[in-house]
Amino acid sequence: MDNSENRKGRERSLKILNTLQDLIANFAIVTAYLFLVNQVILRKQHKNLPSSYQLKLQVGFMAGILGIILMVFTVKMNGTYVDFRQIAIILAAMFGGIIPAVLSGLIIGGVRLLAFGEVTTPTIVAAANTLVIAMMLGMIGRSSMSFWSKWTWSLLVCSVMTSAVFVINTGYNGMMTSAVYITMMALGGVFTAYLNEFLIKAKAQFEKIEREATVDYLTGLNNHRTFDERYQSLLQSATEKNECLSIALVDIDFFKRVNDQYGHGNGDLVLKQLGEILMKTTRSFDTVSRNGGEEFSVIMYDTPHKHSLQIAERLRHAVSRHRFRLNDGRTIPLTVSIGVATYPDTERELLLDDADKALYAAKLGGRNTVCSNQTSQI
Ligand code: GH3
Ligand code: MG
Ligand code: MG
Repeated sequence: MDNSENRKGRERSLKILNTLQDLIANFAIVTAYLFLVNQVILRKQHKNLPSSYQLKLQVGFMAGILGIILMVFTVKMNGTYVDFRQIAIILAAMFGGIIPAVLSGLIIGGVRLLAFGEVTTPTIVAAANTLVIAMMLGMIGRSSMSFWSKWTWSLLVCSVMTSAVFVINTGYNGMMTSAVYITMMALGGVFTAYLNEFLIKAKAQFEKIEREATVDYLTGLNNHRTFDERYQSLLQSATEKNECLSIALVDIDFFKRVNDQYGHGNGDLVLKQLGEILMKTTRSFDTVSRNGGEEFSVIMYDTPHKHSLQIAERLRHAVSRHRFRLNDGRTIPLTVSIGVATYPDTERELLLDDADKALYAAKLGGRNTVCSNQTSQI
């Protein structure tokens, strides 16, 4: 009597242990997939949403593969086998909406139909169910609901639709399977959602830190550190390829007066607007930075001295024509002085210093001018 009870107890513990092992294997697979999609496929995507069809297809395909793996790693609970393939479709829908969701549904449904046993009415119903679920999940994924609402609705759709199929296919017995399935999906769904949310937030945080380290918070231009890196690498490249490299240092004239007269806030507003003018007036491949305070720079690759002076002059002119808006609606005129130097006309070690000297000459020459280090004033 005692022995048989002991045995039953041991068997029960073993079953629970097996179920736990199955669950852990599934969670490990989902975790690996989430890392792969978040860190590799969608690495450079803003807010983790794939922007091109190619990426959407990639996400859908990967989710299809995940679904197949999850189908193989079934979980046995209470004598019933269930799997997490629908988690794969939810993820595809969350990452990219209808296209990846339907693609993963097609892959999972197709493989289920062709590779796992013979084609019977129940397997066809199950495969069709997968496809309908994929479309519904795709629409949920694309909607404007919050992250957690999407997950709740997705899990509800999967639970209701799949339970219905269990009951259609196996009648009353399907109720038990449904109960097990819903429990497992709730468990797997919450785990996956938490992990995914964590990974998305961690990536966003990392991107923010990366951005703050390289971009000037006020103007959105390169900061001094990025300027240094770009300057060194472009100078190196110009030396190796025998190209020229020009640099223009731009400094606002009498900027202190703006702060003194209109306040620091208005000074910041002016700096922002100057950043916009610099971006608009230069070419897309020029490197525009805020080097500090009210000093900016433009690195012009493969640009001879004469041409860079024309660009600097265009810039000076654009600033002098602009009326800078203040926060009370008033506008004020401002001017900039610019110093320009070019490699290899100037040795690379002296380039920055010479551009600075030219800027100083422009200030001495009365401001609102462009000066070259080669001739005094243009
Ligand atoms: P100059 O024509 O000789 O260049 O005169 P200036 O007044 O522009 O130059 P100066 O170097 O005397 O003053 C620069 C001012 O820039 C002083 C400083 O308060 C201001 N400044 C530096 N950084 C910022 C900033 O981030 N925001 C604001 N509003 N002002 C800044
Ligand atoms: Mg100044
Ligand atoms: Mg200055």
